[in-house]
Amino acid sequence: MKNIKVPFIDLKLQYLSIKDEVNSKFREVLKNQEFILDEEVKRFEEEFAKYCKVNYCIGVASGTDALILGMKSLGITRGDEVITVANTFIATVEAITHVGARPVFVDIDPLTYNINPNKIEEKITDKTKAIIPVHLYGQPTDMDPIIEFASKHDLFIIEDAAQAHGAKYKGRKVGSFGNIACFSFYPAKNLGAYGDAGAIVTNDEEIVEILRKLRNHGSVKKYQHDIVGYNSRLDTLQAAVLRIKLKYLEKWNSDRQKNAKSYNEFLSKIQGVITPKTLDDATHVYHLYVVRLKNDRRDELRRYLQDKGIATGIHYPTPVHLTKAFEYIGYREGDFPAAEESAKKIVSLPIYPELQRGQIEFISQEIQNFLER
Ligand SMILES: *Cc1c(COP(=O)(O)O)cnc(C)c1O
Repeated sequence: MKNIKVPFIDLKLQYLSIKDEVNSKFREVLKNQEFILDEEVKRFEEEFAKYCKVNYCIGVASGTDALILGMKSLGITRGDEVITVANTFIATVEAITHVGARPVFVDIDPLTYNINPNKIEEKITDKTKAIIPVHLYGQPTDMDPIIEFASKHDLFIIEDAAQAHGAKYKGRKVGSFGNIACFSFYPAKNLGAYGDAGAIVTNDEEIVEILRKLRNHGSVKKYQHDIVGYNSRLDTLQAAVLRIKLKYLEKWNSDRQKNAKSYNEFLSKIQGVITPKTLDDATHVYHLYVVRLKNDRRDELRRYLQDKGIATGIHYPTPVHLTKAFEYIGYREGDFPAAEESAKKIVSLPIYPELQRGQIEFISQEIQNFLER
């Protein structure tokens, strides 16, 4: 198996598989020249709501905007506290800060890498307004305890489902558990646009009305501005490609699951690697396949694999509370030991749907070669 090169993700390969459909749809959009909030956007919103088994979907400009507008629509503001997890993509926490609220972190469960449900309740104060569980890497958060705390303490649940399109908890798709759920369609996500895009899904009609205004300058009727809004719309070209790709999402997710299974099979034979654990009641959609080394040679392993032509990633190298941007909150090293420890030992391996079993075998073999050196 010489000269196998494995990128971290191969969007060109995915494009080739849907090229004719996308090209002809784009030609149609170009012919129509209706780029903002047209029929295409409305159809995608209906189709994605149906896919998530919720009543409404509101397309916005990005996953980050989905979180910001979503929190605004719930009335979260200055002086409020919002609980989330210390290991997430920075956007989850940026959004909390942008609405004026204070981010309150909870450590991860070292087995699932998601928020540790046993450590949430001690963080709830009379200022707490919401909990944002992040379904990180494509694995649903254990929602039952979160739903219990939220109803006991009268808190909103905002799902950050940016990495988990189609993932299920107890047989139900993520996106349908929170007051609202936020999705990103960043190109590399399981459902990815050809640029930035995002959406909020919900069953709450009142929230929908606020969100429709918030994303479009406070307006649903031209030049009638009811609230101070934003310019954060999902555009027609993005909606068009998302409608095409949504038809393949289940297939692509199942290809990711098949790839994860192959990795589990090969890597379980290797001593120093911990493969991802999935909750009994959860269906993981493997946006990322994250393994953890038992030793401290993670960076060395990544360099070794790079030399063999294998791309890897770290999600994420710095837990949010230790980033410079969020220094101002006042957390320090040692506050969230499980997140800090995992950040030093995790590595994300390629898991995109088009990846072949032979490539997975090659990657696994090289990991073994490295660890046995
Ligand atoms: C990608 C991502 C976001 C932000 O989405 P964008 O579309 O890039 O703005 C938010 N949260 C998580 C967990 C993400 O992975």
